[in-house]
Amino acid sequence: MPNKRLSRSGRRPIRVSFEFFPPKTPEMEDSLWRAVQRLAPLQPNFMSVTYGAGGSTRERTHATVARMVKETDIPPAAHLTCVSATREEVDAVVDSYREAGVRHIVALRGDPAGGVGAKFEPHPGGYGSTAELVSGIRSRAPEIELSVSAYPERHPESPSEEADFDVLKAKVDAGANRAITQFFFDNAHYLRYVDKARARGIHIPIVPGIVPVSNFRQTASFATRAGASIPDWFAARFEGLEDDAPTRQLIAASVAAEQVLDLVDHGVTDFHFYTMNKADLVYAICHLLGLRPAREATAKPAAAA
Ligand code: FAD
Repeated sequence: MPNKRLSRSGRRPIRVSFEFFPPKTPEMEDSLWRAVQRLAPLQPNFMSVTYGAGGSTRERTHATVARMVKETDIPPAAHLTCVSATREEVDAVVDSYREAGVRHIVALRGDPAGGVGAKFEPHPGGYGSTAELVSGIRSRAPEIELSVSAYPERHPESPSEEADFDVLKAKVDAGANRAITQFFFDNAHYLRYVDKARARGIHIPIVPGIVPVSNFRQTASFATRAGASIPDWFAARFEGLEDDAPTRQLIAASVAAEQVLDLVDHGVTDFHFYTMNKADLVYAICHLLGLRPAREATAKPAAAA
């Protein structure tokens, strides 16, 4: 059940969702499930699990969403990319998600095999674009909720802003229900992007992707690859804190809170958090958004698996 907390104006409900990545080791698995158990009682709209480049985490993504179905009351969303795979392989993953009880897929093209910047070549027997993938899933599994990506500062491969909106529009026309944005630090990019999308007849929710910055250096390098700019004023907030993790955490919480509360003031009610499988910062920000854990726990102990 979606969280019913209200925005600061008291009129509209705030809804959040959380993104995790599938763990590689037993230690990472413990840490993921600690984060899930802490965040699930906030009753997010959904919890999503990424799909490694070129399907490299296919089994682990599946195992993680399947465990979410069994151990939490929160609907999972499984990411799926179509790069480097045949249609049959991708369709088989869709079927396996459905069999595991997943009713929400985040449909993506994925980065080309050479990584960000390499030219995308569709697999000869594969889906040629994300819009084709969305359409394929929609006809195979009409009941599935479909989210797709959006890039307020343009995708690194984008030839023009127009091309970006054409791609988003094609995904919507193919049946996408929601777009989730790449992370950004300057809200002006997001607000402008949404206005322009609406002017182009794109009316699905465009949910801002928020990344709490617990390690500025790491985020900065990730942002460069993802095409997200880092304003000077933003970088300045982390200056001189390279060796001071506790203070960085405090700054990270206040910077992210400032960002989400400003978006709330602009009427935004839905937020997607890139958790990096860590709960504390995201929990604190959700608390500031007015979210409180449900009385009845929505995540059962991991030991019950
Ligand atoms: P699309 O939305 O299809 O295209 C992205 C951009 O590429 C377009 O906006 C446009 O600029 C350009 N483009 C594409 N096709 C054309 C065309 N025909 N003509 C002109 N321009 C074109 N990656 C993973 O591997 N696993 C994940 O789990 C994952 N999850 C993600 C979740 C979110 C919310 C986001 C924002 C990204 C995620 N990614 C993930 C990254 C994503 O796979 C990469 O950014 C990839 O390069 C593009 O995939 P896409 O579905 O966003 O592409």
